[in-house]
Amino acid sequence: MTSSTSWLDEDLTFSNDAKTNKKTPFYEPIVNSFESGNKPHVSYHYNPDVSNYHYGVRHPMKPFRLMLTDHLVIAYKLYEKMDLYTPRRATREELLEFHSEDYVKFLETVTPDNVNKYSQVLKKFNIGDDCPIFDGMYDYCSLYAGGSIDASRKLINGMSDIAINWSGGLHHAKKYEPSGFCYVNDIVLGILNLLRTHPRVLYIDIDLHHGDGVQEAFYLTDRVMTVSFHKYNGEFFPGTGNYDETGVGKGKHFSLNVPLQDGIDDESYINLFKSVIEPVITTFKPTAIIQQCGADSLGCDRLGCFNLNIKAHGECVNFVRSFGLPMMVVGGGGYTPRNVNLFLDLIIHFIQI
Ligand SMILES: [Zn+2]
Repeated sequence: MTSSTSWLDEDLTFSNDAKTNKKTPFYEPIVNSFESGNKPHVSYHYNPDVSNYHYGVRHPMKPFRLMLTDHLVIAYKLYEKMDLYTPRRATREELLEFHSEDYVKFLETVTPDNVNKYSQVLKKFNIGDDCPIFDGMYDYCSLYAGGSIDASRKLINGMSDIAINWSGGLHHAKKYEPSGFCYVNDIVLGILNLLRTHPRVLYIDIDLHHGDGVQEAFYLTDRVMTVSFHKYNGEFFPGTGNYDETGVGKGKHFSLNVPLQDGIDDESYINLFKSVIEPVITTFKPTAIIQQCGADSLGCDRLGCFNLNIKAHGECVNFVRSFGLPMMVVGGGGYTPRNVNLFLDLIIHFIQI
């Protein structure tokens, strides 16, 4: 094909990749590699600035753990197997696609120095120990949200089949307030973007905690199905996620909750996961899937109490991948180095296929 030869002219359309020193195309259109029987294209969306922030010395959420994943990418030469993107921050307008104007404005302006002036507003926005005000909070939010929006963009234009934003997955954030360490809901923003071209999006959440923010955002629609596996006893954070929460109006039966008790092991979890997800995918027929892989459901996590191994998570994510649909994978809860191990395990599943 002569036209493709000229398209491959290095001087015209290629940029220099800083890490590999190879010429790479600015844009390489690839349409669902799954369908053509090729290996899926995996992309990793990570802005190193996101690891510079911290919630406070004693707070269990530690964005610097994300830096470790970046080191793994380099140490294991994963950049040879997947496309790396440094996403730009989400713009104010992009955050407003889901969050309310006054809440975004509050996130933008409040700092540890001026927080005293906001005492009335802090209550309104549910600011407390779980969601403290820290330096650079707004920047941190726009960075991880930018990662999920970028990942959704690459799925939409066919440049990626599996797009990973390990700094995202902050599934508790609500339209008007933060919750459970989450200020901005990058998952909701990613799904909203996918809905511009995808008729139906499936959200699967295997974090220890109920994916309440995402469920609430799409509770009234039949275009997004949310499925969450989590610990539930009526008290455990966030207190929601019983089996009778199934959606409202048009969204009736498009929210599915699998409440679990402490101590579930790998085998039971994997069997349960497959027996729920298979009929969901074959009947709902999503055209894209977002999977939240909070590592706090793994055994021995600082906040966790399921008895799962990394293998169980890997098998669940791999099962979803086997349906050959465009998929976004986000991180989430997980407050030990296990989170980093899970990341590596998942990537190895993806790129060896
Ligand atoms: Zn969690």
